[in-house]
Amino acid sequence: MKTKLGLLYGGKSAEHKVSLQTALAVINALDHSKFEIHPIYITEEGSWVSGGLLTGPVETVKELIFTEGDALPPTSLTPALSNKGEEAGYDVIFPLLHGPNGEDGTVQGLLELLNLPYVGNGVLSSSVGMDKVLMKNVFAQAGLPQVNYVSFIRSSFEQNTEEAYNQVEAALGYPCFVKPANLGSSVGISKCSNREELALACKEAFQFDRKIIIEQGVTAREVEIAVLGNDDPECSVAGEIVPKVEFYDYKAKYEDGNTALIIPAEISEEEYSQLKELAIKAFKALDCSGLVRADFFLTKDGKAYINEVNTMPGFTPFSMFPLLWKHTGLEYPKLIEKLVELAKERHAEKQ
Ligand code: ADP
Ligand code: MG
Ligand code: MG
Repeated sequence: MKTKLGLLYGGKSAEHKVSLQTALAVINALDHSKFEIHPIYITEEGSWVSGGLLTGPVETVKELIFTEGDALPPTSLTPALSNKGEEAGYDVIFPLLHGPNGEDGTVQGLLELLNLPYVGNGVLSSSVGMDKVLMKNVFAQAGLPQVNYVSFIRSSFEQNTEEAYNQVEAALGYPCFVKPANLGSSVGISKCSNREELALACKEAFQFDRKIIIEQGVTAREVEIAVLGNDDPECSVAGEIVPKVEFYDYKAKYEDGNTALIIPAEISEEEYSQLKELAIKAFKALDCSGLVRADFFLTKDGKAYINEVNTMPGFTPFSMFPLLWKHTGLEYPKLIEKLVELAKERHAEKQ
């Protein structure tokens, strides 16, 4: 029997286009004798569309779905996924979505309510993983090494801005990194070397979120490890990101394409074992399931700090997560199959 796989992609986020590319790649990679694929497209405005199978170049994907699909008003979103549960009868949903409204537990909550098995992290790990402040608080509790940080809510920040700057300077100094608490893809992130830059960076970050986090800047290599599994997760080889710009910003991630990914990362055995241990610890601290990519800073003297985990990391065949598994011996199509199995396993355990 074929597995009916609902692919949820697009979405109201900065990574909309990336998500289209991922959907197309997943469709092309899957063994169609094993899987029956049902695309479910979320437009940039947030409406849900289901319909014809994706074919053709990414640029036409949207059009194709719009013309061939049936537009569904948000209120009929439940039927789009499961109402005709038995008819539509998805065995598993794969949310190929990044950022808010996709990677942050909202979609996962919907899928829980519909009692549908889905790939990847649940509500709690997704939402905590999306909020950099809460994530770091949980990591701190688990004893994971990380850089110092402070956070502010817009309203209290505005009430006493000078005091906030003083606090940042006393606790962190320069350089520091200012980030919206709840985004990804480096959106709204700036590096600051003085108070003037700090003021601009806070203003910028507050445009994206009512909460910001400010971190001590480190000079370090950026090394990442992919984790796969449920209760007994496994680690991939490590990979290093070498941005050709000052830091790994949005452009470097998606536009320039000149950020080098070095796999496996040239690190010592000891460094690799240390990172693996920290990656598993982070996975367990957030009670993750399915997958995460754990991102680290590794200083010259071999000290590792966890930067973040991404609960739905970039997932095109050229993204770090699939490439790390490929180098570990698990090719893209097998990786997708494994994730689908893990989704079924977790769902069965809940019943
Ligand atoms: P995102 O979730 O958007 O990827 P990150 O926290 O990973 O946000 O920050 C994006 C990039 O900014 C990192 O990959 C790194 O290049 C740089 N960066 C972030 N925080 C720091 C820090 N504390 N010290 C040095 N570089 C940082
Ligand atoms: Mg992130
Ligand atoms: Mg990051």
